[in-house]
Amino acid sequence: MRGQRNPRDPRTFGGRSVAAEPPPPRVTARPAPVSAAVVQAGVPHGSREGGWLPDAVYTGGKVEQGLAFFADAMGRITRFSREPADLAAARRLQGQLALPGLVNAHSHALHRVLRGRGERHSASPDSGGRRGAEAAAWQEVSLRCHGENIFDAARMAFLEMLLGGVTCVGEFHALHHQPDGSPWPDSNFLAKEILRAAHDVGIRLALLKVAQFRADFRAEPGTGPVRSRSGSVEAWVRDLELLRTAVEREYPVDEIWLGAAPDSLAQVPLEAMKAVASYARTQRLRLHVHVAVTAEENAAGVAEFGRTPLALLAEHGVVDKRFTAVGAIHLSPDEVKLLGTTRAAVCACPGSEMRLGLGVAPVGAMLQSGAGVALGTDTNARIDLLEEARLLDYRLRAGPAPEGLGRDWAAAAFHAATVSGARCLGAPGGALEVGRPADFFTVNLHDPVLAGTDSTALLAAVVEALDRRAIRDVWIGARQRIAAGRHVNHGMIVGRFVDMQRRLWPA
Ligand SMILES: [Zn+2]
Repeated sequence: MRGQRNPRDPRTFGGRSVAAEPPPPRVTARPAPVSAAVVQAGVPHGSREGGWLPDAVYTGGKVEQGLAFFADAMGRITRFSREPADLAAARRLQGQLALPGLVNAHSHALHRVLRGRGERHSASPDSGGRRGAEAAAWQEVSLRCHGENIFDAARMAFLEMLLGGVTCVGEFHALHHQPDGSPWPDSNFLAKEILRAAHDVGIRLALLKVAQFRADFRAEPGTGPVRSRSGSVEAWVRDLELLRTAVEREYPVDEIWLGAAPDSLAQVPLEAMKAVASYARTQRLRLHVHVAVTAEENAAGVAEFGRTPLALLAEHGVVDKRFTAVGAIHLSPDEVKLLGTTRAAVCACPGSEMRLGLGVAPVGAMLQSGAGVALGTDTNARIDLLEEARLLDYRLRAGPAPEGLGRDWAAAAFHAATVSGARCLGAPGGALEVGRPADFFTVNLHDPVLAGTDSTALLAAVVEALDRRAIRDVWIGARQRIAAGRHVNHGMIVGRFVDMQRRLWPA
């Protein structure tokens, strides 16, 4: 099923040259996040390093005790140590377990304003199924989110993620234009509001810039929601490059970066999809695409192209190790195999998928095939990545144990919520290892949920039972963002969101 590579010359795009295989975006020469929202720095000003000594730390695939870890002034982990002098020098995190920060690989932050209003956006046959539900939700977001609302809505979603131990998020950003569809004076205004919101709370962000050119399969170009539609691939690329220049100028390179998100084959016809994918490849950007979310979508793909969307994308060389299939629920065994052989990733969003009645992705078979499985909160009806990991764990248990995975379902689910998420976003974190950033969260070992659990059972207990109340502190790049369950601007962020919701939804 693997097709030949895209014949387009990868060194040119839209008639002009682009740099061939520029260096990857992960550069360590610039400082870690410098958002003002810091409770305290783990590396004291002027010091070469700072360290932490929790009661237990999850590193190298197991929970270790009596182990301190240290980071340099760039916020990168430099070493682990059991030396008495190091244990004495490290900041003591009494009664706490430190875990690598979670990575939320797929979020629509603005949907946070719709929480609790799901009756309008449920995927019942009466509402037109998933497409009808999504269209209705999108219509609501698009009607209600303007200017400063974008910032407040996104900031609230990102705050909630931080409080739940998420240190990096992939935001699938589709709202580009003014309510009447005309561009803002700065065409990237809304994207920059999202970046500003992430920076303000201090979370790492991969902004996945969405491309849409039509309403649905077989629809004419130039149809679809006016606020998210791009006029052409060239216009989308131009905006992305302008945005990238601004991002590189204004933010540390490992705090905020960009990815490409041609929404799905329904919204992005094949030629445009190939052009976006080709551009992403030359620029070494991650490529995230909604694929096989419903059986109807697959059938519509077959009707238009004679292939299912994933088979078609693979045939045209779009599916590779930088590709993430978001959803990927309705796949044939051959398609699952294809994801594995191309080393592509899948982003499952079990909570949203259950809520919308979309079905169950064959996650065990995916892991077996070698595909990466990451996790996202998608509609943000609930923001709890550990809950997503729990649902993944349940799904894995329901199927045969993938070879090599043993029956350690919880570890596999936690891996999806950390390592695989980071990989599919091109993020620097995902694990507490030397060379990676000191992105971690701590949980209270005395919380009734964990009390009495020994170190061999701790990770599974976290995945199976933990809720947000037990999450205590969150550190990103060795800077503390959450202390004892609160952000330094907690009250102000929540207060502004409450005021905004009152305005958006008048009684
Ligand atoms: Zn989505």
